Amino acid sequence: MDRKPRPPFLASACVLCGCDAESSQGSLSAVSRGLPKLIEFSKRRADEELHEYFMTKPDKVLVHSECRRDYVGEKRFAQQQKRKHDTETDDAEL
Ligand SMILES: [Zn+2]
Repeated sequence: MDRKPRPPFLASACVLCGCDAESSQGSLSAVSRGLPKLIEFSKRRADEELHEYFMTKPDKVLVHSECRRDYVGEKRFAQQQKRKHDTETDDAEL
């Protein structure tokens, strides 16, 4: 079986962080017109599960406003790619 790095996507939780609470990440909101952007970035980030999920064109994709901003932000994307590279050999973080 394929490994499952994330829990199944819940209809009532943020698909990006998996949390269903309104938190410091901002309030949960449904994405509709922003879906192409999420599809694009899930591909660029090689988030295969998310990408496949988005490609099913779900009626409602819930995300925290803050999670979404981080996810589709060019600047944040570049920073995260860099950080990922910098800490590639450091598994202690998890
Ligand atoms: Zn979130």
